Amino acid sequence: MPGARTHDIITVVTAIGGAAAYGLYAPQPDLAHGAVFTGTYLFAGFACAGDLDIKSAQYRRWGPLRFIWLPYQKIVPHRSWISHGMIAGGLIRALYLALVFLCLAAAGLALYSQVQGAEAAQQAARTQIEAMKGFLADYPTHIGIAIAGFILAGAVHTLTDAVSTWFKRRF
Ligand SMILES: [Zn+2]
Repeated sequence: MPGARTHDIITVVTAIGGAAAYGLYAPQPDLAHGAVFTGTYLFAGFACAGDLDIKSAQYRRWGPLRFIWLPYQKIVPHRSWISHGMIAGGLIRALYLALVFLCLAAAGLALYSQVQGAEAAQQAARTQIEAMKGFLADYPTHIGIAIAGFILAGAVHTLTDAVSTWFKRRF
């Protein structure tokens, strides 16, 4: 299995190559779309690819927030299709992150309710839900592009693992 350094280099090189190709060859390149894709691709490549299923460099890069990946590591066997599937890997991690975000928001609201009372917490929850609905309605394309960035970074990671394994067996 290639080390984190190899994965990092491939992430950067493919991100630059992809951004250049998009700028040069897309009929109408959109700066915001390109930035969302490159940003999520780099983020997913460095800190949100398949090796979050073990205590890897990707996992350590989450710093004090790395605890959010402990349940993932407990559930997902290393290099299984759940973490290293070409499409499932990135998609499941994007969904996992969304779920973690919702859990943290719920925990925050529960805490807020203890301090400010149930009514204030309900009001805050309604505001949050409206804001989230608004975001989903206003930026469907951007969200789709971000998910694609996650999936592609996961796929490139898995391909790199596969090529490296093949070379090690062959030579
Ligand atoms: Zn891997």
